[in-house]
Amino acid sequence: MRVCQNTHQGIVRANNQDSLLVSQRIYGVADGMGGHKGGETASRVAVEVLTAALGNKTPDEKALRLAVDAANRRIFSMSAEDENLQGMGTTLTFLWEGEEQILIGHVGDSRAYRFREGKLEQLTLDHSMVAELVRKNVITPEMAKTHPYRNIITRAVGIDPIVETDVLTADKQPGDRWLICSDGLYNMVEDEEISRILTDMDDEKASARLMELALENGGTDNISFVICRIEEAEA
Ligand code: MG
Repeated sequence: MRVCQNTHQGIVRANNQDSLLVSQRIYGVADGMGGHKGGETASRVAVEVLTAALGNKTPDEKALRLAVDAANRRIFSMSAEDENLQGMGTTLTFLWEGEEQILIGHVGDSRAYRFREGKLEQLTLDHSMVAELVRKNVITPEMAKTHPYRNIITRAVGIDPIVETDVLTADKQPGDRWLICSDGLYNMVEDEEISRILTDMDDEKASARLMELALENGGTDNISFVICRIEEAEA
């Protein structure tokens, strides 16, 4: 895979609580939350635990779940031991690349999109209150964008003693591009716009343009993403 990563504090937030995960065939983002130091600690620890547990191994669903469980326990116990870290947690969405397949691990409201043959598709389900209301047809996707509870997530790593991880499997098709991003990107840049940018630009330019647009459109949150491309020669 060819990988392009980008992260920015945004315009409004005092610090960047997102962490990128780009290491040894694991590519993703963690969007931390809670307290002054809590958010950035939670996302950083999630990335560290995951990298240590999975780095240089062959993708395997059980190993993936165990690694997220380990990250969950670590963050949960750290927040119990230090009142400055109380209640911290993080989203975690990542690809784990194997020879023929990609495993996707997902908790929270960060997203993994696949861009294949000109079409952008969100493969992960947001674990957020508004996304659940949309899935139950209580509100429309349009209403979700401005809903007062749009920042409430229903699952995160480190908040409870046990976490449930979504695991997806995808094939590796040459030419596919993957975008793994925190909500700071997709809340600022519409899917149609992301799709247009990925269609028109190579990865470096797309990365720069996506960040520029997210900031222009408000930059109200930390913005982080990884663009991964499956190259022809790899197949
Ligand atoms: Mg965020």
